[in-house]
Amino acid sequence: MKKWMFLIFSLASLFSGTVQASDAQVEIGFRRLAQGNIGMITVVGEDIVKVRAAFLDNQYLFPPNDDGEFVGFIGVPMASEPGFHRLSILIFYNDGSQEYVWENIQVLRTRFLRTSISLPADLKGLLDEDVIYEELALLDAKIKPLSDGANWLQTGLVPPFTKIPSDSFGTIRFFNGDIMQRHTGIDYSISVGTPVAAAADGVVVLSQSLPIRGEYVLVDHGSGLYSGYAHLSERLVEVGDMVQAGDVLGSTGNTGRSTGPHLHWETALGGVWVNPLELTALLAR
Ligand SMILES: [Zn+2]
Repeated sequence: MKKWMFLIFSLASLFSGTVQASDAQVEIGFRRLAQGNIGMITVVGEDIVKVRAAFLDNQYLFPPNDDGEFVGFIGVPMASEPGFHRLSILIFYNDGSQEYVWENIQVLRTRFLRTSISLPADLKGLLDEDVIYEELALLDAKIKPLSDGANWLQTGLVPPFTKIPSDSFGTIRFFNGDIMQRHTGIDYSISVGTPVAAAADGVVVLSQSLPIRGEYVLVDHGSGLYSGYAHLSERLVEVGDMVQAGDVLGSTGNTGRSTGPHLHWETALGGVWVNPLELTALLAR
């Protein structure tokens, strides 16, 4: 192949494309996604009742927007293997039939920030593998269910604070020289006792003390979107509480594995931790 042809093909693959299923139009806004990034997909067609998708072992539900389009966001796990992976989309029609569409998506490597954190002696127990594993396993189970509703598609997400985060999403952190952990959210350096509001409407699915996240609240916003608020000094909601965007969930603090007052804000989509600010920006478009 001549060099110029390769260039044209490479450029073409950068653009988004439309896949025509027999009864639906599937608009995939990407062909490549980097580790930790989010891709948006729109499915339009007559008589569609539900759209689901699978990517890298995670399940997604595409909620309908006000215009009757089914809109989905796919998260690439920050530690996923670079290379080609199949994105599967299943469209359900009201006559009971289904349609399957797939596309190979290239996952690219991201250069995440690397930081070193030194924990004081009284927090060193929170580097224990079992403690870390148990907390992640609990959260993994809580952020998987795909419940109905998705007001967030209309309202978007409102970040708890507007200031620049003190640590970003996906950071590779080395604690006390060797224990490596990934940062599942973003941090805001905020003095203790500042009210923390829900980023969107939802239902509280966790409100408890965790070893690493400290006093923690997790909200299910529907259709696979969850937001978590960690290291709080107090929690003002209980499991089962319905909350609206802006409702106060608790106050900022310095509980759990924290070396200074801050809010750790994290979001998950389809069981994958995604960058809350990237999702906020995508929903604002
Ligand atoms: Zn954090």
